[in-house]
Amino acid sequence: MKYISTRDNSKEYSFEEVFIKGLADDGGLFIPKKIKKYTTEELNSLSNLSYQDLAKKIIFPFIGDFMTEAELSLIVDKSYSSFRKDNVVDLIKIGDAKILELFHGPTLAFKDIAMQLLGNFYEYYLSKNSKQINIIVATSGDTGAAAIDAIKGKENINIFVLHPHNKVSQVQRKIMSTVKEKNVFNIAINGNFDDCQNLVKAMFADKEFSNSINMSGVNSINWARIIAQAVYYFYTYFQIRDDRLVNFSVPTGNFGDVYAGYLSKKMGLPINKLIVATNQNDILHRAITNGKYEAETVIETNSPSMDIQIASNFERLIYDLNDFNDVETGNVMKKIKEEGKYIIPKDKLQKISKDFLSENMSETEVLNIIKDVHNRYNVILDPHSAIGFGALKKINIEGNNIVLATAHPCKFPDAIDKSIGIKSSLPNELQYIMNEKENYDIISNNINETQKYIKEKLQ
Ligand SMILES: *Cc1c(COP(=O)(O)O)cnc(C)c1O
Repeated sequence: MKYISTRDNSKEYSFEEVFIKGLADDGGLFIPKKIKKYTTEELNSLSNLSYQDLAKKIIFPFIGDFMTEAELSLIVDKSYSSFRKDNVVDLIKIGDAKILELFHGPTLAFKDIAMQLLGNFYEYYLSKNSKQINIIVATSGDTGAAAIDAIKGKENINIFVLHPHNKVSQVQRKIMSTVKEKNVFNIAINGNFDDCQNLVKAMFADKEFSNSINMSGVNSINWARIIAQAVYYFYTYFQIRDDRLVNFSVPTGNFGDVYAGYLSKKMGLPINKLIVATNQNDILHRAITNGKYEAETVIETNSPSMDIQIASNFERLIYDLNDFNDVETGNVMKKIKEEGKYIIPKDKLQKISKDFLSENMSETEVLNIIKDVHNRYNVILDPHSAIGFGALKKINIEGNNIVLATAHPCKFPDAIDKSIGIKSSLPNELQYIMNEKENYDIISNNINETQKYIKEKLQ
């Protein structure tokens, strides 16, 4: 499969370039030149596979000549061997909805599902190329942990993780900062997540710097993450065997996870609606309901992994809305950068509404949902997953409704305690991090200082 950039579709890229670069040189996001659409028969032939075997079938067409099918097979099996569920994910029923638990990986968040695979893709790539790679990634809490777990201890690769100082939960921070491997560096930036993300973007754009350290990125715009996430939409769809329409409610920040659902639909999976569920940082909810894609200041909430005002992956949808017009997409993105907003025209909003619905949730609503679900079904949802569930309730749509549960509740003990008075504890394998020495450095929100820090560590 060949790839293009959303801002220049005349130049083709291989999967290897797409994976290693993350972002196109023109600033656009990579997307496939053409997406394979499955027929009903083809979908049927996939419907009884194990999660791992399904992942191999779904991912392989996307990676072209990066590796052979047999090599991919080994990597998929290895990537998911550390998960606590044989089939990677778990689907549980609560009332008339279903909860898709995606948090059974090593760092208790859905991001492990993509990140474990990426870690092994890097290892494979470096076994064929004598290079040293430095991954730099911004995190609102979960990406960093998942990336560190996937990269720690691997040869010829370092990882630098920027998190907003004092704005991730203590458990989220400790999962990252207690890792001892020498190729892992944690940086707390005096700023918010968008500041961290902007620093990483600026370091990428500084070609002299990024080339000099062979910088690579695993942020949610990395196409490899999207394809790994599409797998669980297919897997879940195949678990459901009745004729009602299927809707997914997706706790959303950077629009990566829900975009993977949209991609699955483009690939022929008969999904009805994707519900974009946001917290009070609801730029996407405002965009989808009244066409106002306009960044406001970030509010700190009890779902910190979604405290985002710039939804990076949204550009991929903007490209589709603009009928695959690269120049138009580039202009829209330029406008967003310069004026801080994009008013989506009516006809394009109508297009969005074919695939997406949206809702936002306040802090109090989130705590009430956690309490209500716990009372009724004896299930504890983390605040992010509760937003998915709450949005679904507010929208009140008929059908087979699936809520993506994106993190284990024990990652957010304060919110859980506040809602139901239960001190939710870490799984046994992770208990040790609470007493372990932490390693991270605090740096101001400044590109020169951050680059200097990274250069020094690499000497
Ligand atoms: C990252 C994250 C999200 C948001 O996913 P996006 O792909 O950024 O939309 C939701 N919940 C949790 C727990 C996360 O870590």
